[in-house]
Amino acid sequence: MKKETFAFKTEVQQLLNLIVHSLYSNKEIFLRELISNASDAIDKLRFKAQTQPELLENDSDFRIRITPDGIKQTIEISDNGIGMTYDEVIENIGTIAKSGTAAFLEALSKQQASLTPELIGQFGVGFYSAFMVAEKVTLLTRAAGQGTATLWTSNGDGSYTIEEAERPSRGTTITLYLKKRENDDPDFTDRWTIRRIVKQHSDFVSYPIVMDVEKEEPLPENEIIKDKDGKPIGKTTRTVMAEETLNSMKAIWLKDKKDVTQEEYEEFYKHISHDWKAPLAHLHMKFEGTTEYSALLYIPEQMPFDLFAPEHKHGIQLYCKRVFIMDDCEELMPEYFRFVKGVVDAPDLNLNISREILQQDRLVANIRKNLVKKLLELLEGMEGETYEKFYAEFGPILKIGIHTDMDNRHRIAALARYKTTKSEGKWVSLKDYVANMKPDQKEIYYITGENLTALMNSPHLERLKEKDFEVLLMVDPIDEWVVQALNEFDGKPFKSAEKGDLETEAPDKSKEEAFNALFGCIKANLDDKVKEVKPSTHLKDSLSCLSGNPYDMSIFMERMLKATGQKPPEIKRVLEINMDHPVMTKIKAIYDADRNDPLLQEYSHLLYDMALIGEGGKIDNPSRFHRLIGGLMDASLKA
Ligand code: ADP
Ligand code: MG
Repeated sequence: MKKETFAFKTEVQQLLNLIVHSLYSNKEIFLRELISNASDAIDKLRFKAQTQPELLENDSDFRIRITPDGIKQTIEISDNGIGMTYDEVIENIGTIAKSGTAAFLEALSKQQASLTPELIGQFGVGFYSAFMVAEKVTLLTRAAGQGTATLWTSNGDGSYTIEEAERPSRGTTITLYLKKRENDDPDFTDRWTIRRIVKQHSDFVSYPIVMDVEKEEPLPENEIIKDKDGKPIGKTTRTVMAEETLNSMKAIWLKDKKDVTQEEYEEFYKHISHDWKAPLAHLHMKFEGTTEYSALLYIPEQMPFDLFAPEHKHGIQLYCKRVFIMDDCEELMPEYFRFVKGVVDAPDLNLNISREILQQDRLVANIRKNLVKKLLELLEGMEGETYEKFYAEFGPILKIGIHTDMDNRHRIAALARYKTTKSEGKWVSLKDYVANMKPDQKEIYYITGENLTALMNSPHLERLKEKDFEVLLMVDPIDEWVVQALNEFDGKPFKSAEKGDLETEAPDKSKEEAFNALFGCIKANLDDKVKEVKPSTHLKDSLSCLSGNPYDMSIFMERMLKATGQKPPEIKRVLEINMDHPVMTKIKAIYDADRNDPLLQEYSHLLYDMALIGEGGKIDNPSRFHRLIGGLMDASLKA
């Protein structure tokens, strides 16, 4: 029979070293991880069996069994779930490092001071937690529908062996050969310890977790020895082994709110999310009527590290009358709520529903609509500080909804918060912004870019600041789509502070005419770079800036697209010049004296480069810029 030895992938080995040598506290969570894998394996089998019932092999009495042995100091966790083939064992355990491995190592290295094994499950590396307590681990597994089984063995010291084996029924058995106990480790083979750990960490697992326990039962009448008066002599009971179910499998989402404690809500959240922190908020509801369902939803406190990883699968679990149907039911939650976790139980759902059908199901669409409504209400009702915590974490994702959910666009917009030129680092809602608009202000001004400081000091805002108009500083890439989708808020149109003209004051026609010819000359010098050269409606102190046409792509958007490797069409922008700047009077004098003076060409480029630098952009001929500035400094500095 086939037998092979493999070395663990480097990251897995690093991870194992850490687990074996650095994780000391709370070792008991290894049991939660192995039970959760067993439960996942049963879920997977049940899902597959909907279309391939033969996989069940007449055994649909799903359970997870724990078998401790105090003398040998071993503990076994077995399940009748989907099992694994030889190749799947190689793939899932040890050889191929999953994305979570590296992420977990990084998270650990960041908090060396307090290594917490609790976070292990979040990173999809829960299986290895067995090595916190075991010096040797074996895994015997047979995949549903397969003949041969596979035995995997490792001491966690760099390599593992894998060989073909036998197992009478499908499923997986993990055996831990426990290490010598140290310090205040409990005896993990002790039945009371096991009962407590399961109760604490795995009570909500939806399959029975069973353990054989010794039980005293009365001896049958004819086996009791009695004296001549009929009184028993000696034993009247005997010890038998009985199966005990350790978890309550409570479907708390079906209970009444008043019967669920805060602790139960938190424990259940940790159970389904693998998060080790309490959630920020939860929403528990029962819906009766045409669309009947119960739902228990949670908003995490922190962004899960893998929210956008393809393996991420801790979204909404779908149940039908307590029977698990599927994990990560995307059809029930729009993209912009993808961080919400929880359970939805819909009694009228067809148990054999497939993902394809789910997408067109009216019932599912209705539930989703209701859930979204309730979640929006929850967010709208959150206290200021809690809401800001939420927004700082998930705001950029939530705002996707403004772009994608036409029906709720305005409600989501009302939930958006921005820092502004006047908010001194605080968040402002669009409603507050509108309420604080100046009497002569007609539009909602905004500017988009990568960083707050650069935006705050952008030359484009000089006139607006002078008028004391507030400007929204938008730094999330999604904000570009937000303003496009919204167009206006509370009847006030959005207006880019860097695109188009600002109508803050009437233009000075005679001055413009005086500069016309010079601007034509500058435009001729910069013909390949700018669309137009004109007097600025933005600037007060700076000399020049670049602005876009109202319908053009913003420079932030252009840079974002370039950063992702795309090639947006080159859009020429408008060079705006501050006619009131004393330098312009001097340049104009040069022009008036000799319109062919070579300095004019150099200064044209300088005005353009300065505009670019002012908005944090890159100039294409830095050495020319350097030379010109050097020359000017030389002329103006006193010896
Ligand atoms: P995760 O459960 O997050 O995927 P783990 O490290 O806990 O990460 O488990 C790794 C993989 O090993 C699982 O995804 C699964 O494919 C496989 N596995 C672990 N335990 C079992 C089991 N009892 N039955 C079947 N497959 C299992
Ligand atoms: Mg796991």
